[in-house]
Amino acid sequence: MNSFTFYNPTQLVFGKDSIEKLPQMISQFTEGKKILVTYGGGSIKKSGLHTKIMNLLADYEVYEFGGIEPNPRLSTVKKAVAIVKEKEIDFILAVGGGSVIDGTKLISAASKLDNDPWDIVTRKVTPTAVVPFGTILTISATGSEMNSGSVITNWETNEKLGWGSPLVFPKFSLLNPEILYTLPENQTVNGIVDSMSHLIEQYFNEADNSAIGDAMIAGVMKQIMSAGRTALSQPDNYEARETLMLGATVALNGFMRMGYNGDWATHNLEHAVSAVHDIAHGAGLAILFPAWMKYVSQHQPARFAQFAEDVFDVDQNLSESEKVEAGIKGLEDYWQSIGAPSRLSDFEITAEDFETFADKTLFNGPFGNFYQLDKEAVMEIYKLAE
Ligand code: NAP
Ligand code: FE
Repeated sequence: MNSFTFYNPTQLVFGKDSIEKLPQMISQFTEGKKILVTYGGGSIKKSGLHTKIMNLLADYEVYEFGGIEPNPRLSTVKKAVAIVKEKEIDFILAVGGGSVIDGTKLISAASKLDNDPWDIVTRKVTPTAVVPFGTILTISATGSEMNSGSVITNWETNEKLGWGSPLVFPKFSLLNPEILYTLPENQTVNGIVDSMSHLIEQYFNEADNSAIGDAMIAGVMKQIMSAGRTALSQPDNYEARETLMLGATVALNGFMRMGYNGDWATHNLEHAVSAVHDIAHGAGLAILFPAWMKYVSQHQPARFAQFAEDVFDVDQNLSESEKVEAGIKGLEDYWQSIGAPSRLSDFEITAEDFETFADKTLFNGPFGNFYQLDKEAVMEIYKLAE
């Protein structure tokens, strides 16, 4: 393993009564009264969560910023930053999924600077202060509720880029699994795929020893797969939602990557696609991960054979190449069984775009910590996913 320091300051408040704790949680972080509530396209109004939150915030001066889109946009973040500055907001409450939370992370940091928020994303400027924020999570997928990363799309340049800062860990995140009952089926599927993909990215890592991580990752992945099936057939099964919600959080809050980074090439391959076609992140990953595996396993078969044993319990007596194949098929079959897409053509994305995608993925040169991809490799992977 590499030497490491583990740090995660987010207070995770989990359970059926978590949301009622909102006022006491906010009061730990500000004595101010001006709260900006950020949210997405309106699911929180339909579900009744919006009313509940407004009641809990009755003692505060509340401002609202709705309309943060899936794959949150720079232009939207800029509008919210203007409100935070004008109203001198003391605390931001993000209510939603990865998109609302990621957008809020940039709002929180950019509101303390005069720069264009994009300068933060492109690392031209490093945030040194933030407007504190907490979250109420409504979809289990990204882990953004307990990490310091954020992904923002710039539609002027068709770039979707990740950035992070230790300052943008949420101060707290309130997680009530019952909130997931209203998720449309395809969003539950996207969340299952994204959280599994985070685990897979970290399983394929650069460390010479990741024994503890391997055991945690395989264990959490099996639980997510099983709970995923249950939640799709019984959307209001509390235990299944509980497992999916905590599973997605621990999948990307740092626990699974102590001593290494993970590969992360497939997330880069996916961001290039959704920067141009605005497809759901989970959908893109379901298409691209098996393709990445088919390509990279030709070069590093041993780790893929191990993956098949750890996650899909394949027969130990199979040959290495049979194990590799069985592991990749196990993943493809599971994702197919829950209704995830499997080909770029499912979204009418054709080979015409592959060169554009490839150039976007390579903006910082070859990438992938477990197996480095160059342009030829990237083009090959997109072809495998066509
Ligand atoms: P999302 O984009 O936040 O939400 C997807 C959709 O689900 C929205 O249309 C939303 O509707 C709806 N929704 C959310 N909660 C709902 C509920 N309880 N009931 C009904 N509908 C609900 O999904 P996400 O997968 O969490 O976030 C994806 C974004 O996060 C992508 O941009 C991705 O690149 C990024 N990401 C970030 C990280 C990270 O670590 N920061 C990691 C991976 C991916 P409304 O808008 O109407 O609420
Ligand atoms: Fe992701």
